[in-house]
Amino acid sequence: MNLLQDQPAMGIDQTTLEHLARQWEDLAPEAILAEAVRCFGDKLVLASAFGPESIILLDMLVKVWPRPQAFFLDTGFHFPETLVLKDRVLARFPQLQLEVVGPLMSVEQQNAIYGERLHDRNPDHCCAIRKVEPLNRALAPYKAWIAGMRREQSPTRGQIGVVQWDSRRGMVKFNPLATWTHKQVWAYIVERDLPYNPLHDEGFPSIGCSPLNCTAPVADGADPRSGRWRGKAKTECGLHV
Ligand code: SF4
Repeated sequence: MNLLQDQPAMGIDQTTLEHLARQWEDLAPEAILAEAVRCFGDKLVLASAFGPESIILLDMLVKVWPRPQAFFLDTGFHFPETLVLKDRVLARFPQLQLEVVGPLMSVEQQNAIYGERLHDRNPDHCCAIRKVEPLNRALAPYKAWIAGMRREQSPTRGQIGVVQWDSRRGMVKFNPLATWTHKQVWAYIVERDLPYNPLHDEGFPSIGCSPLNCTAPVADGADPRSGRWRGKAKTECGLHV
């Protein structure tokens, strides 16, 4: 488990990480997080949109990291419930060092340049402005990041490793919950009595921005991400590549 121990953070490469991912496939998320904190210290950050996975990761992180660092991308289009949840999580974890990162232009400035409802006409461009650029800016000071992605969530996530090389940004990415199931996630949330977005109880298994074309409710048993950019070929916002 201590394969990262003798590796200077700057010297970790893709081959090392592929080896680690195989070694760590069955490791508990808590152990992966402990190793991430030990290796990267304050050059590590958690990306949180306040989905259940990132709240679980935070609950695990506080046991091994006294002042965990995280960021939240505030697109300007979040559901009110998501913003209330952010405050509930901050109250539950007062040790959290949360940075709220916004786009370079307000919604009004974006509307003036591109017209209203860019998210309906060109969601890729809207995500590039309001999510991807802020993410790249938020990650720039760090050497490694933690995300709540799970293989089960979609075919595009089916091959992710518990640790991998983020080639777009030249840094290490940890996916400690990669192997977890939906059932495991919600069992942990209930057992630890963690706060979660009430929209999950109203048919929204995956919650992003509030326009209906970006996040719609789905029927019981449907693909959990089928409510995202409904009717479009788009399945990811571009944060995870
Ligand atoms: Fe824009 Fe929708 Fe992407 Fe949010 S999810 S950034 S509103 S296209």
